[in-house]
Amino acid sequence: MQTLNWNQLDTKAQTASLRRSPLVGDNTLEQQVSEIIRTVRQRGDAALREYSLRFDKTTIQDIRLSDADINAASTRVSDELKAAIQAAMANIRRFHEAQKPGTISLETQAGIRCELHSEAIAAVGLYIPGGSAPLISTVMMLALPASIAGCGRRVLVSPPPIDDAIVYAATACGVNEIYQVGGAQAIAALAFGTESITPVDKIFGPGNRYVTEAKSQVSLDNQTCVSIDMPAGPSEVLVIADAKANPVFVAADLLSQAEHGPDSQVMLVTDSDTLARAVAQEVERQLATLPRAEIARKALFCSRTLIVRDMQQAVQVSNRYGPEHLILQTQQPRELLKSIRAAGSVFVGPYTPESVGDYASGTNHVLPTYGYSRTVSSLSLADFCRRFTVQELSAEGLLRLGNTVMTLAAAEQLDAHKNAVALRLSTLNAAGEVK
Ligand code: NAD
Repeated sequence: MQTLNWNQLDTKAQTASLRRSPLVGDNTLEQQVSEIIRTVRQRGDAALREYSLRFDKTTIQDIRLSDADINAASTRVSDELKAAIQAAMANIRRFHEAQKPGTISLETQAGIRCELHSEAIAAVGLYIPGGSAPLISTVMMLALPASIAGCGRRVLVSPPPIDDAIVYAATACGVNEIYQVGGAQAIAALAFGTESITPVDKIFGPGNRYVTEAKSQVSLDNQTCVSIDMPAGPSEVLVIADAKANPVFVAADLLSQAEHGPDSQVMLVTDSDTLARAVAQEVERQLATLPRAEIARKALFCSRTLIVRDMQQAVQVSNRYGPEHLILQTQQPRELLKSIRAAGSVFVGPYTPESVGDYASGTNHVLPTYGYSRTVSSLSLADFCRRFTVQELSAEGLLRLGNTVMTLAAAEQLDAHKNAVALRLSTLNAAGEVK
């Protein structure tokens, strides 16, 4: 990890120090992904099989898992893992059930009723990353809210061979179709359909840069109305730590993100040179014990420690970066929280490692990356629903509002709009409704 002193950098260098990994969004990515999408649209299941062989080194016959496959996979999962999945599910379910939206119904003025309703999206596609680690937790983070919201078709895709625990968790969380296909090709199949996969209305889930680019491309295609949850790409964490923070905890948190993938990024922002040095030593010590040390080292190469003046400046830097995960390991973390303006999920205090949010505290771990946390929210139940409004006017309501609408329509030179009101008012006049 490179160490930089924020206050010795000029404006350009400060901006550069907050740049994401250069692996994110290289020039060839867009072309590669659009080629994969085009091929899946043209050749359907055959293309899915070819890409699975090429990218996942797996030959697949049936793209959809049968009930027999699902039952066999579930019996191979240990009781200990099943119990952990059930325990995590209970917290995630509790937090997401509490997010159920209510209906709003009120009269804006006498005779004019306005309502806001929320209804589950009919068919959702849930992408579960599986390239470098089987993300069982992501199944719970996507499938549980989809079930709680009441989405009718809950379709899961994940690179082959799908891990048994992913299959078990999917069934436990109410997924009703499972397909063994990953990468950009899976996203294309969910958006446009193939012989085996019927298209869905909205695609959810994190993934590597191929998956994230494919989600973005299909959501812009005007041949389909598919929408996506958010740009949830390679993982990021920013830790704000002061001199009193425990370097062992800080290093562990940095490494827990670095091990996700070579394009993950971890940032430490501190006002203490001593802590920065202690964390650097501790990172090296812990790395030596990690099986995924090689991946973590690649991520650390594009990661930085930034030395700042004080905790207020640390928060300013963090708000500029807009991390997916923000960890506050400081004396007064709740005080800092008040000034946080951009972070997908915040982990407060020394005993809240990011791993708890990744798996089991109950919050959702699908979070905006690339700095989108300034405007995009963490995944929640509302993302699985569509909102729509209803309005109903009585004759009295239209009589009261008619002139306002006609005046505005006339100002916009939209006479047909004005007529739609005027003709009704004339009818009401003729019927003697106007007093
Ligand atoms: P993945 O399932 O996202 O990607 C694997 C697929 O990538 C493969 O099936 C393959 O089809 C495709 N692929 C691989 N190399 C390719 C190439 N050269 N050309 C075209 N396609 C190729 O799994 P992963 O790779 O392990 O990535 C998971 C990602 O998800 C990580 O970056 C992790 O940080 C991120 N993540 C993000 C969040 C979040 O909320 N933002 C949460 C969890 C995980």
